[in-house]
Amino acid sequence: MRLLDLPNLSNKRLQALQKSGIHTPHDLLLLFPRRYIDKSVVKPISMLNEGAGAVTVIGKVVSKNVAGFKQKKRLEVIIQDKTGSLKAVFFKGWKYFITQFTENSWVALYGPVKKYGHYYSMAHPEVDAVESPEDVEKFENLVPIYPSNKHFSKAYISNAIIKNWVEVLLSGLDIPEFLPETILKRHNFQIRKDALNSMHQPASLKEAKRALERFKYEEFFLFELSMASIKNQRTERNRGKLLKPGKYTSAFFKEILPFTLTDGQKHALSDIRTDLQSGNQMNRLIQGDVGAGKTVVAIGAMLMAIDNGMQAALMAPTEILAEQHYQTIQQYIEPLGLNFRLLTGGQKTALRRDILTDIEGGNCNIVVGTHAIFQDKVRFHKLGLAVIDEQHRFGVKQRNDVLMKGDNPHLLVMSATPIPRSLAMTIYSDLDISVIKGLPAGRKPIKTAVRTDKERQKVYDFLEQSIKSGDQAYVVFPLIEESEAMDLKDATMGFEKLKRRFPDFSIALLHGRMKSEEKEAIMKRFADGDTQILVSTTVIEVGVDVPNASIMIIEHAERFGLSQLHQLRGRIGRGGKQSFCILMPDVKLSKTGRIRLKKMIDTNDGFEIAEADLKLRGPGDFLGTKQSGLPEFRFADIVEDRLLLEQSKNDAWNIIKKDPELELPEYKDLKKVFEPYFKERSEFFGVG
Ligand code: ADP
Ligand code: MG
Repeated sequence: MRLLDLPNLSNKRLQALQKSGIHTPHDLLLLFPRRYIDKSVVKPISMLNEGAGAVTVIGKVVSKNVAGFKQKKRLEVIIQDKTGSLKAVFFKGWKYFITQFTENSWVALYGPVKKYGHYYSMAHPEVDAVESPEDVEKFENLVPIYPSNKHFSKAYISNAIIKNWVEVLLSGLDIPEFLPETILKRHNFQIRKDALNSMHQPASLKEAKRALERFKYEEFFLFELSMASIKNQRTERNRGKLLKPGKYTSAFFKEILPFTLTDGQKHALSDIRTDLQSGNQMNRLIQGDVGAGKTVVAIGAMLMAIDNGMQAALMAPTEILAEQHYQTIQQYIEPLGLNFRLLTGGQKTALRRDILTDIEGGNCNIVVGTHAIFQDKVRFHKLGLAVIDEQHRFGVKQRNDVLMKGDNPHLLVMSATPIPRSLAMTIYSDLDISVIKGLPAGRKPIKTAVRTDKERQKVYDFLEQSIKSGDQAYVVFPLIEESEAMDLKDATMGFEKLKRRFPDFSIALLHGRMKSEEKEAIMKRFADGDTQILVSTTVIEVGVDVPNASIMIIEHAERFGLSQLHQLRGRIGRGGKQSFCILMPDVKLSKTGRIRLKKMIDTNDGFEIAEADLKLRGPGDFLGTKQSGLPEFRFADIVEDRLLLEQSKNDAWNIIKKDPELELPEYKDLKKVFEPYFKERSEFFGVG
């Protein structure tokens, strides 16, 4: 059966369907009703109101007469129930409709109402004869209401037409099942054909809801199957690359590291070690709140690669962070006599050429940089481990780009944004996760407060005192792409204002538009304690580590998302001092704005904040960019349907474990659906 076989399908309508993404009969069947109406719910006339959508009214026909002349002729019918009366008007086909009404007998009208003077009126309602006001049995079937769009309306594709098409398809189209029998049984799902019937023609809302679960599951399941299969392929490719700690690793932990590791760090390192020695490729995510100390864990892992004669790479999302990692590595690695290089996009050609030669020749043990590290031109001598810091800034695709580099290196990714479990199960589902719980000893919880512009003087007085006693501070301004010019001006003016207010302090301005060298120099002066106040846009949001900085003022705090505020705040509270974060909204706060800032005051816990943020914003916005690599699910919602997500994940991963190529007869139908699904999304998954 083809779309073209449907009744009343003009060329225009076919085009409208195609423009709406409906190319096959099956696509049309997946156009699920937005809602269902239930004609059996009857409203008394006195309770009607305009704009409340279509309703059923049952009344006795009081009068019917034809009013107006010629073209304006219309049928007007008045019906009455115990509470009042209502007028029904028919402009077209009145000769037919007049036969539908008999004075003094009961009738049910269904449609939206409008008020004209005293009368409520319905234009062209649906008419059904009934025996009595209680005679609603015949309305038991729910009527599906389909989503519409401008293409549909232009081509006159009404609800009735879609409903009819769907009926034709449901009775004529062959709808095969593809979920394995065991899964259908396990979750008590209807077979696909029945589930589609239940979506379009449910006997009850409960039945429709139940059917929808199956389709949500399907979506999650195919996605998880993809992730499982990607991971399985990676693991296969990497067999035999064992990495063991050796002299560099042990010298680092025993002689160089100035502090003892936290339990969380130890756990993460031990997970990494197990992975590296398992004979399979490591695919691990280290998740730890801001300041948990992920960098040393990464360094430990990289040293294991070097101990085994391989190179390691560390990728950061911003130049500032790459530069900082470079400094840290310098501090720790230089004493070991190892070589390391910084590779970013902004470097001069000659320098870049020199670095690339070094990497390819194997001279350089560790490469630190931005995503420039994984561009085509960069060739590694023998890359054993790739680390991606702040992975939430990259997607599944970037992860796979890295892995295509050289010779299937082990992969370690780190994220400070505590991704709620349900999100982790989607975007990180190809990774094993270690969570670093807790912060290094001696950290004091940051104190957070909200202050208005009226209190600015007090805030500045406090800032002055703290700086005089040796603290350093960040003053942060928002900068978003849409209003970049304005935002930049705002930050610059804020900077000038602070300079006038504190002429004796050393104050610097930092933003993303500056040249790399300039940014580096400014960060270095701040890290060295030469700059006391750093006025900055959100370029410092991720990763920056200056333990002496203990004050942060966030201007226009209402414009930041919760997770972003938490990330920013994570720049302070990194030393032993009491730190303070002052949020300064500059407009009257909206309701969600108030909830956000209150949450910041109430907790320092990244996971709690992330969960709240996800609820407030939904998964798409939560991760910010399209780059986040979050898949789009059409029916399912990763927050609301997390139980289904978890189930589908387990099922999919077990299947791939048992039969990675889906060769067993029981997966024959699944394979037929899965292969094109995966192929279509190869760009998203960064494969092929
Ligand atoms: P994040 O997890 O946010 O990336 P960092 O790796 O930047 O955190 O570490 C934050 C700060 O804590 C750094 O200054 C680091 O030197 C310090 N640090 C890390 N681990 C420990 C530890 N076990 N004890 C004391 N300080 C630590
Ligand atoms: Mg970090």
